Amino acid sequence: MRDLQLPIYLDHSATTPVDKRVVEAMLPFFTEGFGNAASRNHPFGWKAEEGVDYAREQVARLINANPKEIIFTSGATEGDNLGIKGVFEMYARKGNHIITCVTEHKAVLDTCKALEKKGAEVTYLPVNGDGTINLEELKAAFTDKTILVCLMFANNEVGIVHPIKEIAEMTHQHKALFMTDGTQAVGKIPVDVMEMGIDIMAFTAHKMYGPKGVGALYVRRKNPRVKVTAQLDGGGHERGMRSGTLNVPGIVGFGAACEIAQQEMEAEAKRLAALRDKLETSLLQIEESVVNGNVDSRLPHVSNISFKFVEGEGLMMGFNQEIGVSSGSACTSASLEPSYVLKAMGLDDELAHSSIRFSLGRSTTEAQIDYTIEKVTKAVNKMRDLSPLWEMHLEGIDISTIEWADH
Ligand SMILES: *Cc1c(COP(=O)(O)O)cnc(C)c1O
Repeated sequence: MRDLQLPIYLDHSATTPVDKRVVEAMLPFFTEGFGNAASRNHPFGWKAEEGVDYAREQVARLINANPKEIIFTSGATEGDNLGIKGVFEMYARKGNHIITCVTEHKAVLDTCKALEKKGAEVTYLPVNGDGTINLEELKAAFTDKTILVCLMFANNEVGIVHPIKEIAEMTHQHKALFMTDGTQAVGKIPVDVMEMGIDIMAFTAHKMYGPKGVGALYVRRKNPRVKVTAQLDGGGHERGMRSGTLNVPGIVGFGAACEIAQQEMEAEAKRLAALRDKLETSLLQIEESVVNGNVDSRLPHVSNISFKFVEGEGLMMGFNQEIGVSSGSACTSASLEPSYVLKAMGLDDELAHSSIRFSLGRSTTEAQIDYTIEKVTKAVNKMRDLSPLWEMHLEGIDISTIEWADH
């Protein structure tokens, strides 16, 4: 453990470092390959376009799409906006009803809210205690005005993975389009748009060892041919769906990141699942600790754990100089509101506040996990030693029954 470098990064669901091989691939496109990929009449443009074309193939291959179905964006937030708003406008004659879910990322929820002001009817499906949706509830939500179901592949806070293929099938039976926010899943677990029946999918490079500020929207071209209206007007890049000079180095890096993920994903998922399981099993030895989210359908590298009677933010102060993780309140911008995802899963404020998300990645080692287990265990015990609530709990008092004096 003496060789251990601090701090340790266990927040890969928030963002990942750029893989050195990705940086290598990008570098030439800042200098000699600097051209504008839309400059069709000289070698500077051709070289940039070649880089983009190659990356488009690499990105498409990872998700089993055709390169023509890839629209480069600035990231998943833009992809979510383009997909949802683009469908709402393009299919306005068919209907105005969208089905999504309360535990989606804000990029989806806030986009839907914005559309409600423009006449969209949105159904926000609730979730079960383990973060999954009830397929019967989904089935019952369809109307003859339903144009889109938008449901994330894997949740960013608890890592649960929805049964995408089943949901897509049900959506198609009701003649609507199926869109998924694939951000947390692509490059981590197999995602196959053909096999799974995905019509539209947003994803981003910086959550899979690529650079920030670049992502893609997959838009199906066959069975059915899907169209979205552009949300940025301009030069008509990306088949008219997304104008703006392409971020050539970023796109090249995204492509390289996809190729590396495709080659290494399977072995890496196994390695990380073993480390995650070790971390989780050890931390669950701590009294009154629970895993949040369905553990049978979950990303291999994520564990979200609540430690009852301690407050996540306070707990993190015990080790956040050394270990970078997220708490159940960090996800909604800078506020200390408890996570809306955990609350939607039925956790009370206390328990939502006491949760920590550990997300492992390519640089995670066993020594780091061992150190984390030790540090977190000590910090939880120390906080509890200082907590009157914990003392009462040990004395067998049910804290939920206490009537607190007004103040
Ligand atoms: C990170 C994330 C986003 C936003 O992606 P950006 O590329 O940072 O805009 C959207 N959806 C999910 C599920 C995410 O985890």
